[in-house]
Amino acid sequence: MAASTCTKCGNHTFEVKEAEPRDSAYKLLFVQCSSCGGVVGVMDFFNLGAMLQKIQKKLGIS
Ligand SMILES: [Zn+2]
Repeated sequence: MAASTCTKCGNHTFEVKEAEPRDSAYKLLFVQCSSCGGVVGVMDFFNLGAMLQKIQKKLGIS
C-alpha cells in the first residue's frame, strides 16, 4: 500500500489537532502533517460512529 504523503512537504507522518475555525459553530479535528502543519483532512470533533452505536444499544436495535 502506498504511504500517505503530505502534498506540501513530502512528509509521511500526520497528527490530529483540535481546531475552531473562525465563524464555525462547531469544533473540528484537523488531520495535519506533523512536520509542516499542512492540513490534509478534517473530521468531526465528536465521533459520530461511537455516538450512533450508543444510541443503537439504548434503542435495542443492534
Ligand atoms: Zn508537510
